[in-house]
Amino acid sequence: MENRILGLHHITAIAGNANRNHDFYTKVLGLRLVKKTVNFDDPGTYHFYFGDEAGSPGTILTFFHWEGIQKGKTGAGMATNIGYSVPAGSLDFWTDRFKRFNVQHEELNERFGQKYLSFQDPDGLKFDLIEGLNDNRKGWETSEVTADTATKGFHDVTLTVRKLDRTANILVDLFGYKAVQQEGNRHRFITDAVDNASIVDIIEAPQLEFGINAAGTNHHVAFRVKNDDVLMEFRGKIASKGLNITPKIDRDYFFSLYFREPNGILFELATDNPGFTRDEPLSELGKSLKLPAQYEGQRKEIEESLPVLQD
Ligand code: ZN
Repeated sequence: MENRILGLHHITAIAGNANRNHDFYTKVLGLRLVKKTVNFDDPGTYHFYFGDEAGSPGTILTFFHWEGIQKGKTGAGMATNIGYSVPAGSLDFWTDRFKRFNVQHEELNERFGQKYLSFQDPDGLKFDLIEGLNDNRKGWETSEVTADTATKGFHDVTLTVRKLDRTANILVDLFGYKAVQQEGNRHRFITDAVDNASIVDIIEAPQLEFGINAAGTNHHVAFRVKNDDVLMEFRGKIASKGLNITPKIDRDYFFSLYFREPNGILFELATDNPGFTRDEPLSELGKSLKLPAQYEGQRKEIEESLPVLQD
């Protein structure tokens, strides 16, 4: 069991403004900022991680902030929607809340027998809140978003592609997912390796234009593995399919590999270890700027170049 893909690890998207992004996710949606760091490939910009109390795999939504970047466009070859699991009966609360905070949202809808509420973040990134059954995960609570309404982590991610089979083959043959249901052009895949964050939906749209990766779009989807050994086992399997894959990369809070699946979506595999308490205690997560060792010597310059976060 332990050497399988364990559902989703994190999803990373692009935002145009750090303060607006921080406000929306911590205040309106009620997630916990579990790590405030910089983009390791571009240390003049923030990288925020939002999640449950500990930033457990399967709850982590991360953002690169490129101030003033143009708005992207969702389309083929990208992850186009993120599904969060919420407690049964909480969607009326969320509808009212979205009205109060002027969040773009739709009417309640139903898919695969589950009620959901679609909304967009301030950059236009698309989400569903889904009344998940049997989700025992404990959501992060704030004064306004309490246990009976708090998001519990990911329910699913939706990938939109031109050719279903190309991506489905990766999920099924390499990652151990099974095709379970279909509604229209939406195909649902699920892994039984974990109880939650276990669903990937693929929308097949052969004629759809390719998306443009900028503000309000997803950058990559990370799948979860237990540790470095499993990570490297998968590296071999993916390379043997003729796909280009990076060497193991140290992301401080997990170890990663990246590859583009055949429809063009950037996939990552990420480990459980060492986790977000690597450089600050659980109670302090996200409170101060954490830098990887290679940038610690430039802390002053980096801090001065980053936008000041308003509380
Ligand atoms: Zn990532």
